[in-house]
Amino acid sequence: MSTTIDYYELLECERTADAGTIKSSYRKLAMKYHPDKNAGCKDSESKFKAVSEAYDVLKDPQKRAAYDRYGHAAFQNGGGGGAQDFGGGFSDIFESVFGEFMGGQRGGGRQQQRRGADLRYDMEIGLEEAYHGKATEITVDVSAPCDTCDGSGARPGTHAKTCAHCGGHGKVRAQQGFFVVERACAVCQGSGQVIADPCPDCRGEGRVEKTKTLSVNVPPGVDEGTRVRLTGEGEAGPRGAPAGDLYIFLHVARHPLFEREGTTLFARAPISFTTASLGGSIAIPGLDGHKHDIKIPAGIQSGKQIRQRGAGMPVLQGRGHGDLVIQIDVETPTKLSLRQKELLEMFRETETGDECPASQGFFAKLKGVFAGE
Ligand SMILES: [Zn+2]
Ligand SMILES: [Zn+2]
Repeated sequence: MSTTIDYYELLECERTADAGTIKSSYRKLAMKYHPDKNAGCKDSESKFKAVSEAYDVLKDPQKRAAYDRYGHAAFQNGGGGGAQDFGGGFSDIFESVFGEFMGGQRGGGRQQQRRGADLRYDMEIGLEEAYHGKATEITVDVSAPCDTCDGSGARPGTHAKTCAHCGGHGKVRAQQGFFVVERACAVCQGSGQVIADPCPDCRGEGRVEKTKTLSVNVPPGVDEGTRVRLTGEGEAGPRGAPAGDLYIFLHVARHPLFEREGTTLFARAPISFTTASLGGSIAIPGLDGHKHDIKIPAGIQSGKQIRQRGAGMPVLQGRGHGDLVIQIDVETPTKLSLRQKELLEMFRETETGDECPASQGFFAKLKGVFAGE
């Protein structure tokens, strides 16, 4: 089939030929192979078709670019206008990339305003502060609208003019490969406006660096990585464009007593073997500032967990609290007085084995193992 022949070769042109050269060459060849002049000649007829097909592609800058890049493959699926198949998907990706590049746009106005950048501020707080929430102030160096020109960027008394390069659209279209891409106008940086007489204080930027003190309200229940957004407290947009947001990234410091998982607080509590044997209670200082009396039932084992409902972390932006989970560690005494040793010796003499059924069962099992050998 004729489509396997290179289009430039068919049109007897160099690959670098300009549109005019291609056009005149096509005309010459079309005239030569036209069916009217070559009645009944099959060879001329197919040559005429091939030349027309080649010209159809090369006359269109978009199709020509696709052909240069992908060859005939660019037009094989769907025939003819295959290049458009790539268009839709790419455009979607491009929109999102472009949107990001533009600093994220709000609204879809013709005149694209560049929003100021979002800023990040890292703040470390204690677990108690995460529990109660915290109202505090932070100081940030951030660009803010220029007071002299009120953020317009134009010298007071003068005004910005519509950009002649993009006609105020802020965007220009350009050919890139076989895609038409839109990019921010380089002359006005996408604002659609140019300033002839810039403000002397901000040099036409409409914003200046300032030190701002901001109030931050950390709500109760925040966790490591929680972000608090201060809307509009990010970088000012250029020339009065909307400001970005300021994000406070929270980091919760480790606590000496409590570990946290979501709204659950965990603590390990060592207790004496006498409390474990006889029962009793221990006091845990809660993050709420109260002492929590934890009842220890007689005979509790090491590793046992006691759950206090509602004594954990508050639910962020919700109601109620998680639980406090106390894990019991029974501590074996290591420093005994002579008297205590005597008492324990006396205790041992009274042991029958029934006091500690687990140990008794274990040794009974071992005996069975040895006997079975
Ligand atoms: Zn200014
Ligand atoms: Zn422009």
